[in-house]
Amino acid sequence: MGRLYRGATVVDPVTGEHMIQDILVEGQVIADLGVHLPTSTHEVIEVSGLHVLPGLIDPHVHLREPGQTHKETIETGTMAAAAGGFTQICCMPNTSPIVDTTELVLSIRSQADHFGYATVHPIAAITKGAKGEELTDFAALHQAGAVGFSDDGRGVQSAQMMRQALIRAKQLGVPIIVHAEDETLSGAGCMNAGAVAERLGVDGIVSSAETVMIARDVILAQETGAHVHMCHVSPKAAVEVIRTAKANGVQVTAEVTPHHLLLTDEIVERLLAQAKVNPPLRSESDRQACIRGLFDGTLDMIATDHAPHTEEEKGRGLIRGPFGFVGLELSFPLMYTAFVKSGIIPLAKLVYHMSTAPAAHFHLQGGRIAVGELADFTVVDLSQQRRVNPATFRSKGRNTPFVDSVLYGWPVLTIHQGRTVFINEVTVD
Ligand SMILES: [Zn+2]
Repeated sequence: MGRLYRGATVVDPVTGEHMIQDILVEGQVIADLGVHLPTSTHEVIEVSGLHVLPGLIDPHVHLREPGQTHKETIETGTMAAAAGGFTQICCMPNTSPIVDTTELVLSIRSQADHFGYATVHPIAAITKGAKGEELTDFAALHQAGAVGFSDDGRGVQSAQMMRQALIRAKQLGVPIIVHAEDETLSGAGCMNAGAVAERLGVDGIVSSAETVMIARDVILAQETGAHVHMCHVSPKAAVEVIRTAKANGVQVTAEVTPHHLLLTDEIVERLLAQAKVNPPLRSESDRQACIRGLFDGTLDMIATDHAPHTEEEKGRGLIRGPFGFVGLELSFPLMYTAFVKSGIIPLAKLVYHMSTAPAAHFHLQGGRIAVGELADFTVVDLSQQRRVNPATFRSKGRNTPFVDSVLYGWPVLTIHQGRTVFINEVTVD
């Protein structure tokens, strides 16, 4: 009747335990979990030697549809999610048009459900057209399925507008998701301000462009009692502002990307446009502060900021090319290889930051493997070693600075609501 995944090493990100168990899936849910379950009439799938994680959740993805389907579509973006072990993703509203109506929220959800690779939770715009002038209809958008509000891609420049948004979001119990960028400070920069930008002779983006707005929005969240979530935190000073705010009881959460945890602006000298991202790759002390922030809980979760572009667009160079990297298909292997395989943190802690924490803070189901829960899980082969080859991506985007990195811990099977949505047929190369 059901499907029995036999001999899995099940990782519990809450207790930190790893237990060898069988998982019985019936329909869309986990029907049973235990040691040596009777196989009876079930289809048996042998997964001994492999680790089973709750479906990964990415709170920050650009699916590019509607309007930019040359970069990515809901179909290819969710296929990429499944290939990366993600069963739920939140998508950003800076498409064309901007997601500021209930029709668009409903359309994205129904298209994602139609393809069925992953559950997509739209994040709706804070302001109409993301112009920063007039708030969207938060209640209606939330009712339609928006899990939060953001003008991501741009910062909300007006403190008064942000304050009004926080008041309205608090009434609904949803987060305001902040792309922190004060445009009077970031200007026309294309990379981090510093010695590398000077050597290359290009305009830099100072850290304060980000930290100033994070500090402002922490103050506004404190005053309004709203939940504010900081996107893709990158400078050391911003990590410190968030740490202090948390200590003062402000309802602030934050995410950090694999690229800000692993790379610095030094790499821009070699990769140029392929290392262009916003916020920019910063200095080594910023990178170290982000790592410490994640390990001590100041930064709650890992987000890819998956931002696909075409090769032609990225090929326009460091100054004229667009910001952004793809991330869905590499995030887990990158994080596993850097922090778990190297012995710095346990696997359960990484899974907590990539599944349990985003579920908790964005009020989503999931984040744990348990009887009665939706059968959303990811089977990973921790010993599988593979070189990053963008030609194999499901995403339309190939833009990653991690080309040719040798990584471990690749997803081999992704189960979304009981259905197999990804099987890794690629072998070691
Ligand atoms: Zn952003």
